[in-house]
Amino acid sequence: MELPFAESYKIKMVESLRRSTREQREQWIKEAGYNLFNLKSDYVFIDLLTDSGTGAMSDKQWAAMMEGDESYAGARSYYKLKESIKEITGFDYFLPTHQGRAAENVLFSSLVKEGDILPGNSHFDTTKGHIEFRKAIALDCTIEEAKDTTLELPFKGNMDLNKLESVLRQYPAEKIPCIVLTITNNTAGGQPVSMENIKGVSALAKKYGVKLLFDSARFAENAYFIKIREKGYAGKTIPEICREMFSHADFMTMSSKKDAIVNMGGFIAFRDEATWQGCQMYNIMYEGFITYGGMSGRDMSALAQGLKEGTDFDYLQTRISQVAYLASKLDEYGIPFQRPAGGHAIFVDAKKILTNVPKEQFVAQTLGIELYIEGGVRGVEIGTLLADRDPVTRENRFPSLELLRLAIPRRVYTNNHMDFIAAALKNVFDRRDSITSGYIIKKELPIMRHFTVELEKA
Ligand SMILES: *Cc1c(COP(=O)(O)O)cnc(C)c1O
Repeated sequence: MELPFAESYKIKMVESLRRSTREQREQWIKEAGYNLFNLKSDYVFIDLLTDSGTGAMSDKQWAAMMEGDESYAGARSYYKLKESIKEITGFDYFLPTHQGRAAENVLFSSLVKEGDILPGNSHFDTTKGHIEFRKAIALDCTIEEAKDTTLELPFKGNMDLNKLESVLRQYPAEKIPCIVLTITNNTAGGQPVSMENIKGVSALAKKYGVKLLFDSARFAENAYFIKIREKGYAGKTIPEICREMFSHADFMTMSSKKDAIVNMGGFIAFRDEATWQGCQMYNIMYEGFITYGGMSGRDMSALAQGLKEGTDFDYLQTRISQVAYLASKLDEYGIPFQRPAGGHAIFVDAKKILTNVPKEQFVAQTLGIELYIEGGVRGVEIGTLLADRDPVTRENRFPSLELLRLAIPRRVYTNNHMDFIAAALKNVFDRRDSITSGYIIKKELPIMRHFTVELEKA
């Protein structure tokens, strides 16, 4: 008999989960203004709000924490991290930051000015926030196929090179501080970008004299997909593929809370010394001195180790197989989601399920609320709430996709939890036709409203 696939790790420490009743959950979500971000985590059974900072650290990472050097300047932990980053990305210069958006803040403070254009493949929400806050424009050049959730493409996160080139042709290079390539493409469904596409983007950047930034939160998952799906990479190791990917970028921002499996942390890494120097002042002002930038020594040590574990093939295979397992359960029940399954999450196609909810009433958010009430499972809306208002007209932007993201934390849940999630979603799916109305906004902030918005039943 062929031996079945099994996890590449075992469990050393556990944390209890709390069960609740449907009546309790109905009350709690109402009190939370129908915003899943406003729920106490104790009110959640399985938490798929995000895979960011929610991973389980290893014994080696906890051991690294004990060896952290808390010196203000020149800490050993900083040099350990520098070595780890150099090994995996090839970049010589870096600045630690407290998380990914802080990296964006520091880098964009140095590079982006009013009226600038930053083309990319579905900018992440904080990235777009930092661009629009500076009155610059985040121009989306993702391939059109990414909008069709039924298409099975190996690299659905790719940039459309024709769209990108027409932007590069239209604006002078001085107005384009950088192209932003997000790997994997989170917003389009955790979909990878191929090496061929990375090379194509890099060639265009060079042709037009523009810099290339990798928004790298899930670079290791991207490398895994390249190894598995792209011709010519099966024999390469994950670190080899990572180094090849990064060899095409000028700098990178990193949310270490994703593929580096730490609970907090980030960094910016640079090929060139001058850009690194240009960012130092902002790092000191916003984050901390250039050798700790918002991180404790122990956190930098855990991150140095996490980068190695996050690029381990066996770990990546375990992780991505778990996401694929959940996808196979949804397939069994006929529940539509962005195909193929992404690296870190399943993106359920809410528009195809709740066909009776008007688009003005936040379709994916409505599905998220129903799933929470059904089983205490917390996902997150990637739809009209997240798309926010147009910065100029202040009208709601209606994205082509209304998705409910079920992000799987790293090394945290078992496949029995995946079965539970799929069953809860199936119950909502089975009563989908009876769900005919959604929610309206009671209170919202002018930017990144989805985190704090308050809703009421429509
Ligand atoms: C999470 C994330 C960020 C922001 O990082 P934080 O650590 O949450 O501040 C930026 N880009 C992408 C693609 C992300 O997934």
